[in-house]
Amino acid sequence: MQMIINGEYVDASNGKVFDNVNPYTGQVICTVPSGTREDFERAAVVAKKAQKEWAEVPLYKRVDIIRKFTSIVRENLEDIARTVCEEGGKTITDARGEVECLCMVFESFAEAARHFCGNTYPLNAEARTQGDIIFTVREPLGVFVAITPFNFPMELYAHKVAPAIVTGNAVIIKAASDTPLGALKVTECLLKAGVPAGVAQYVTGSGREVGAWLAQTKNVDAVTFTGSTAVGMELMRGAANNLEHVFLELGGNDPHVFFDDCDLDLAVAEAVGGRCYNAGQTCCANKRFIVQNTIKDEFVRKLIDAIKAYRIGDPSDPQTQMGCLVSEKAAAEVEKLIEKTVQQGGELVYGGKRDGAFIEPAVILVSKDADVAKDMEIFGPVFPIIGFDTFDEAVQIANQTSYGLASGVMTNDINKAMKFAMKVQAGTCVINGSGNYRSVHQPFGGYKHSGIGREGTTHTLSEVTQEKTVAMRYTQK
Ligand code: NAP
Repeated sequence: MQMIINGEYVDASNGKVFDNVNPYTGQVICTVPSGTREDFERAAVVAKKAQKEWAEVPLYKRVDIIRKFTSIVRENLEDIARTVCEEGGKTITDARGEVECLCMVFESFAEAARHFCGNTYPLNAEARTQGDIIFTVREPLGVFVAITPFNFPMELYAHKVAPAIVTGNAVIIKAASDTPLGALKVTECLLKAGVPAGVAQYVTGSGREVGAWLAQTKNVDAVTFTGSTAVGMELMRGAANNLEHVFLELGGNDPHVFFDDCDLDLAVAEAVGGRCYNAGQTCCANKRFIVQNTIKDEFVRKLIDAIKAYRIGDPSDPQTQMGCLVSEKAAAEVEKLIEKTVQQGGELVYGGKRDGAFIEPAVILVSKDADVAKDMEIFGPVFPIIGFDTFDEAVQIANQTSYGLASGVMTNDINKAMKFAMKVQAGTCVINGSGNYRSVHQPFGGYKHSGIGREGTTHTLSEVTQEKTVAMRYTQK
């Protein structure tokens, strides 16, 4: 594959490439350019010029282009979904759903942009502005760099690119090196639909290097990033050099609390559905299972039965519920963290074996002092079970982490559920479900080290634009 800079397919300026590997078969799908600083800077200069022209295109025309884009994506849905499945190990069913989700997110932002307004302010509220009319308009920030992770290469592409483009920004997209091809195909659809060449460009290469260039360029106005907390912090430090706007969706170690008055079958279904979805590689997945000691044994028994019934295998088989992880390296990292948890006193009661890029879902009984019960995020299908006795103890364990992305609570007592929702330190709390939940409209994002900013139609349009005040002073004669 090649990058797309200024509408042209190009190799890296130094000709270097790396392999895009199918984690299920181990076969190389294609080679990927290892973009250089020179490539990146060229894209940024092109974007700077193109953005100014794009901002002059009337909103209704930008909306029409996005509608055309989603129809082109839908015509190519099967091809794009197969690519997402092959390069990421995601099941074909989930890959198809994610491409459809990308279309829905683009369409939702296009619609929201049509209702996105500035404000007018009270007339004659102060003697010094008496008679003036003060109103605001929203204008784009300029050139965005959108950096996406491997786990939701379509949905997160949409949450970054759609709001930026529809409001008149230009975007340089840098997808994860493990999953570069699906996002390239989507960028091609944007260009086919009529997005100008300099407004949507696609670069590939090492994220670490792109991060360093971002800290040095003067041609980028904002960075929107989804990925790990460590990288988010590094990006923010670099962006400070040029005062780039920074939007960060970061990691999580989300609590899922099970009180003894919950519907146990629902609880187990939510536990497994949330954790095994995308082979456990979801930012807002339930990652710590905080279970009241009175039901812990029964919960664990039913959980293991449910995991045994889960269909794990070939990602391209429509019957498969859970595929492999994104790479053998990622699976080996999960294996290492399982071992570490056991070394810290955890009791592995089910699973945890690795086979290539596959990890068998693992159930581990742990104490609330284990690393995994606090800040150690495991990005795979692992169920650390932590017992508790009282409501206050459940809240304390839920909040004993520097993360705060999402959370879930299972109980049939609505007062208890509401009390928990108010006490938990997280950007989302799902009652009678896992925190692995996302609507395009909700303000999705994290407390504490889980991020800065919110994604969703109700918030992102404000974040990707800047507000200009116009004060009209006129003579009332
Ligand atoms: P990651 O290592 O931070 O990588 C994410 C993206 O950042 C990739 O495109 C990567 O490129 C790039 N990157 C890496 N180092 C960089 C640097 N120094 N400067 C700039 N970009 C850099 O994250 P990951 O491990 O793949 O993804 C999993 C993490 O993301 C988990 O912690 C998960 O919870 C979090 N996540 C959060 C959300 C959310 O919405 N809050 C959603 C999904 C995932 P390369 O691939 O080339 O290295």
